[in-house]
Amino acid sequence: MTANQTHNPLPTGNDISLPWHLRLPAPLEQDFLFYSRNSAAGAASGALMLIALLLVCALLVESTVGSDILMQTWRPRLFTLMVTGGCIVLCHQPRWREWLQPCLLVLSFTISLSGVYMGVVIDHPLSYVFFLQTPLSVVMISTLFRLPLHRSAFSAVLMTIAMIGGLFFAKEYAPYEHLSLALLSLAFISMSLFGQYVYEKLLRKHFLSEHVLYQHRDELHSANQVLESQATVDGMTGCINRRGMEARLNHLYHLLKQQSPDAPERINLLLFDIDFFKQYNDTYGHPAGDECLKKVSAVPLSMVQAEKDFAARYGGEEFVIVLTDSSFNDALVFAERMRNRVEQLGIPHSGSRVNQVVTISIGVACSDGGAEDGGVLLKQADEALYQAKGAGRNRVAMMSSQGMVEMLT
Ligand code: GH3
Ligand code: MG
Ligand code: MG
Repeated sequence: MTANQTHNPLPTGNDISLPWHLRLPAPLEQDFLFYSRNSAAGAASGALMLIALLLVCALLVESTVGSDILMQTWRPRLFTLMVTGGCIVLCHQPRWREWLQPCLLVLSFTISLSGVYMGVVIDHPLSYVFFLQTPLSVVMISTLFRLPLHRSAFSAVLMTIAMIGGLFFAKEYAPYEHLSLALLSLAFISMSLFGQYVYEKLLRKHFLSEHVLYQHRDELHSANQVLESQATVDGMTGCINRRGMEARLNHLYHLLKQQSPDAPERINLLLFDIDFFKQYNDTYGHPAGDECLKKVSAVPLSMVQAEKDFAARYGGEEFVIVLTDSSFNDALVFAERMRNRVEQLGIPHSGSRVNQVVTISIGVACSDGGAEDGGVLLKQADEALYQAKGAGRNRVAMMSSQGMVEMLT
């Protein structure tokens, strides 16, 4: 590694600095809101049950304080209880979840404003306690319901204004009582919002880390796929290379031996070699030899159709074709058709001693003949090919089930 080739570690969510207002760029912000909405729905359900319980307790306490107080509190309490029930239903309906946050906001305003209303209308020395429902609502929306910070901060301002306005109307308190209650509530509200700011910053960083991680996982996955195909495909002809061929052949043999449900019926292996290719290179040059290889290899590539079948470049000018669901006879017909098609390409070959054009010789073997693995099957096809060469080239030879090589043409 040279001095200016620095090692770049993978970025994490911590590398991304959030702006002070914490908002992310538009598409990410939408994803984050969706993510936080779903994660908050579970916690909100439990919190809502608790609120319903507390409302019932409040009604019981108010009934013991005095029936005249209960007469003024039961309506706002019942209304709040109904809104709470509606939110509980929404929590358990993923289809309507987009309505959950607006409904939770309605509930928080209901709790806060009903407190202000009761604080103003109820004539009792302890009625200022109702005003504390406002800081309680802010704590709820920011910690329990986990509404996004900008929404809870805006709602908190509205609720605080309503509460201070209510205190102004509740004339039975002395001014210092107003002031201390308002200051205490403001301390509650600001602490709660600050806590939410810190929490949401962490949550957004966590979200970004996961986002970056997923992005890298996807990039790695596609890079792996490219590498894998580069490692098993021959760059010049587009055929599977020898490594890929051996892996596929071994896999097919494994399936065949295991008699697994997706095992091939049999494996026919065709090995072909271009006749007098050294002379072709000598006559027309190596680049022309490469072009010839591309044209010849295109023939089996265009003929192989079935899903498990494939054509591979075994070595320099030798190719392997594997046919899995054809009978041995069909494989021989395939071989003869392929030999014929290469001849029909009509690539001039003045150096050939068997034809005026480029031709191939083919050896065919089948797993039905008893070959116990891919290596043995290849050897059998190679033996047949060798004899096809010896018998004059431009022909198909097969390894019979008796282990004898027979010429087809
Ligand atoms: P035979 O009919 O017995 O197969 O004779 P042959 O000349 O084809 O056989 P041999 O194995 O002696 O020669 C194969 C030649 O293929 C030698 C090598 O230069 C050539 N060859 C191998 N790979 C490539 C390649 O990628 N491009 C080119 N142009 N030639 C190649
Ligand atoms: Mg050869
Ligand atoms: Mg050859």
